[in-house]
Amino acid sequence: RVKADGRGSYHRYTDALHHDSVRELTIETRLRKAIKENVFEIYYQPKVDLAAGKMIGFEALLRWFDQENQQFISPAEFIPVAERLGLIGTLGDWVLNEVCRHLVQWQQDGLEILPVAVNISAQQLMKDNLAETVSRILKMTGASASWLELEVTESCFIPEQADRIALILHELRSEGINISIDDFGTGYSSLSYLRRLPLDALKIDRSFVMHVPDNEEDARLASTIIAMAKGLGLRVIAEGIEDERQLDFLRQHGCHQGQGFMFAKPAPEKQVRSWLAEKWCPVEYCALAASE
Ligand code: C2E
Ligand code: MG
Ligand code: MG
Ligand code: MG
Repeated sequence: RVKADGRGSYHRYTDALHHDSVRELTIETRLRKAIKENVFEIYYQPKVDLAAGKMIGFEALLRWFDQENQQFISPAEFIPVAERLGLIGTLGDWVLNEVCRHLVQWQQDGLEILPVAVNISAQQLMKDNLAETVSRILKMTGASASWLELEVTESCFIPEQADRIALILHELRSEGINISIDDFGTGYSSLSYLRRLPLDALKIDRSFVMHVPDNEEDARLASTIIAMAKGLGLRVIAEGIEDERQLDFLRQHGCHQGQGFMFAKPAPEKQVRSWLAEKWCPVEYCALAASE
């Protein structure tokens, strides 16, 4: 947005606002159309065990290629619009269905299954029947609950709804589904709150990983989060690992798992098949792990 820098800033500010709302309106129209025409695709990004250097699972990331402008629109931009329009239920169900369908196909093709984590938005979680929806989709597709993980962000954890959220998560977990807290460190959840929730893993937000090890403050924060997660008995996953120095730092501090462009960018389902078939392992890093 435009900073207040004297005369004329007001106009630029309203222009910027106008521009934002026009963009949102166009996204809104196209999103409704995209949902009707089902033009979405799931990409998958490998999760890596940092100690062993092995691929141990994937995160499913929704992709929308906007035909009109011939470009991808980021889920960070259109998911909030879908939530506001009440379309996230339809979209979220589609993602769960599609991921389960892929998992079953991989199994039928004789590939060894690695679990897939699906992102769940606050509204999806608060709908009273998420556990029911998930178990219906599992049954319908024939996918196993142990293949599925759910990622929920801290923004889902509304203090007034703590009991209800705990109940929903318990229900999902009793089905055998692992739950991770996503983008950790960007929200306001307290330790006492976290302790009450049935969680399996904690994902350190990319913003804390980005500047390690050079930025001392971030390095201290990252290592503190890792220690805290372990203290809570949670698996720790670092997002957005882009280079070897970040990786070394995280490994030294005992971070269990990681994702990032250094290993692999999110890729289409077809790519997952070859990764699974060749039991792919982020090559340079495997060499590193083997040499230790
Ligand atoms: P997220 O769940 O925190 O996902 C991680 C994001 O970081 C993804 O962006 C991924 O492509 C990106 N990323 C992974 N490694 C690196 C790296 O090394 N460097 C950089 N710069 N980025 C990296 P993406 O796919 O654009 O998704 C953005 C957000 O949109 C996700 O953040 C998630 O909150 C949301 N989202 C994506 N798919 C879904 C979905 O199916 N349902 C819901 N509710 N939200 C979704
Ligand atoms: Mg996520
Ligand atoms: Mg995340
Ligand atoms: Mg993130």
